[in-house]
Amino acid sequence: MNVIITRPRYRTHLITPPLGMAYVASHLKKNNLAVELIDALKDNIANAELAERCAAADIVGIFCMSDYFWEVRDLAAKLKAAGKTVVIGGPHATVMPQETLKDTLADYCVVGEGEQTMLELVLALRNKKDPVNIPGVYSRSTVKFVPRDFFVDLDVLAFPAWEDIDPRTYPPAPHGAVVRAFPVAPVTTSRGCPFSCHFCASPKIWNRQIRFRSAKNVADEIQMLVKEYGVKEIHFEDDNLTLKKEHIQGICEEILRRKIKVYWATPNGIRVDSVDEELLKLMKKSGCYSVAFGIESGSQEILDHIEKGTDIARICAAVKLASKAGLITQAFIIFGLPKESKATIKETLKLVLSLPLHKAQFLLLDILPGSALWDSLRQQGPEYFRKRSYQEPGYVPEGLTADYLIKARSEAFRRFHLRPKQAGTLLRMLKLRQIKFVFQRVMDFSIFGRLGKKG
Ligand code: SF4
Repeated sequence: MNVIITRPRYRTHLITPPLGMAYVASHLKKNNLAVELIDALKDNIANAELAERCAAADIVGIFCMSDYFWEVRDLAAKLKAAGKTVVIGGPHATVMPQETLKDTLADYCVVGEGEQTMLELVLALRNKKDPVNIPGVYSRSTVKFVPRDFFVDLDVLAFPAWEDIDPRTYPPAPHGAVVRAFPVAPVTTSRGCPFSCHFCASPKIWNRQIRFRSAKNVADEIQMLVKEYGVKEIHFEDDNLTLKKEHIQGICEEILRRKIKVYWATPNGIRVDSVDEELLKLMKKSGCYSVAFGIESGSQEILDHIEKGTDIARICAAVKLASKAGLITQAFIIFGLPKESKATIKETLKLVLSLPLHKAQFLLLDILPGSALWDSLRQQGPEYFRKRSYQEPGYVPEGLTADYLIKARSEAFRRFHLRPKQAGTLLRMLKLRQIKFVFQRVMDFSIFGRLGKKG
């Protein structure tokens, strides 16, 4: 059985090693199955060519996030036409397996953590057994879906198949736009998050459970990446890296104890209520240079409504402490959340302009499949992801217009970044070879007007 794991090319300014695919690949390899990983996004391969590259495969596993669902659908159709068994996994298939099978020609969805499910599915197909009762597998003949239990101990997993996603081969289009040093490797130290922010799909994907790798296991991986792949910067991509203080403290201490020389950052965002002065100082000491905070809004009413579980006072305190610790600070802001109005947008902008922040990412709300907002608002948005993720409104709150949100976001970017300290931070960090990707980002986010309009 030849297995290929892949993701299609899609339009994005973010091209980073795909950990989810590489975790599945390494688990199959560990169990003596031959598997090839093709990252068509990195290698800029169109679907027609990608389908040809899969000619020798019996089974093709496609990783699917909602923002490139339509490219996955097209690829699945091409692969089915070529007689392949097609399996779709990843967040989109996890939260909407039925719809994914209905909307594509794929044979199976892998729901939840993919490693063991994909292994058992491949083995069943190899042995010509019906995989219908394998936990985590969703097929057209599924009558009663059996969910797969999460791994209790994440340390049992092999490291991602780094040999297939060598960080040195990735373009300078990292999470967070600018970084201190290349090559950059993403690492996750945990899976899941116990919170239930309404715009986020994590609660449904991970059932609000969180599990942690040990500090030793994480440090082993970082040390290997530095030694064998020349990695100079780590991006922790956890949903909630700093939830448990002993966890992140342990990782910092292990990095320091082993004297690993590496920069690190949290471009996926951390919560403002999960840091204190002592922790931020330790993070800085161990190589952290930049933290992004999931602030979302400057309106307490909106924060409460989306069940963010934070407040303005904590936002201010966390940003100030991080800045005092000598870290670059970034805010994630979402415009267009329920209860958004012209007044709340002003309130949010006033807050971020008043804080010692170096960077801010102003996003337009995506109604993510799997999120609580998906259940309540999906009818009001465009057909899912017939729009550019975070760049066009997925829903427009009462009293606003899509055009207003787009203009407000562009203006917020300009007002925030065209200040000496903020512009200086970006310019100092920007590397010449990144210009193309940063320009694309400026276009995508319509920073200077509607340059990035689709089509
Ligand atoms: S936004 Fe962050 S804190 Fe909220 S549920 Fe998602 S991962 Fe958890």
